[in-house]
Amino acid sequence: MKIGVISGHPIENLIDNSERITIETRYGVIPVYISEQKGHKVFFINRHGDPARLPPHKINYLGNIEAFHLSHIDNIFSIGTVGSMNLDIKPGDFVIPHDFFDATKDRISTFYDDKRFHVDMSDPFCPALRTLLEENTRGLKETIHMRGVYLATEGPRLETASEIKFYSSIADIVGMTIVPEVILARERGICYASLCIVCNMAAGLQDILPADDISKVFKTMEKPVEVILRNVIQNIENKKSCSCKTKMENAML
Ligand SMILES: [Zn+2]
Repeated sequence: MKIGVISGHPIENLIDNSERITIETRYGVIPVYISEQKGHKVFFINRHGDPARLPPHKINYLGNIEAFHLSHIDNIFSIGTVGSMNLDIKPGDFVIPHDFFDATKDRISTFYDDKRFHVDMSDPFCPALRTLLEENTRGLKETIHMRGVYLATEGPRLETASEIKFYSSIADIVGMTIVPEVILARERGICYASLCIVCNMAAGLQDILPADDISKVFKTMEKPVEVILRNVIQNIENKKSCSCKTKMENAML
């Protein structure tokens, strides 16, 4: 099976011993690292490009998801770093979000500008992939939150304390990149689930917010992320059925 992994940070074992190719899409050329993992072909994309220089508001979201689509990938695991707005969710925890709130301002979040598609988002993250993630994180010493609402901001600046006070009434974690990835994946009929790494408490909930905290925490979480990915890839055949692939069939007016 072909499996997609998208992350904002390099995941060494998906890059070591991989073949780097580029995929031409109508939205641009996307570098992809292909490796063999547990008998499956894994396509790894750094969402920020290669080298990873694109800030969240300039990421080629359409190109990244289109590259997976053109590679006939049915399942995408997304790795993201987030801040926590929920006092029960701490730095060093994982969250597998079940819903999102879009507070971005200036992003293209659809493949369809010339047709009237309104895709169902009542369950935006694939329930079957979320269950698979849940089953394959058991036994880890890290705390895994199996549900959570992800709020996406435009960035690249971090949020103000006042914004976080408001956002915390509707969401648990805050980040800048899952939207519009999750929407575009749905429009292409690809199952998409995310494993979010909590790197800090959001503004107003901790003293200072140095941006390099994110890389430092990611580094310490890299090993458990690799273990989880290895487990879900190994057990991908156990994924239950879902309706992500057919959502677009009923989406056109
Ligand atoms: Zn699905």
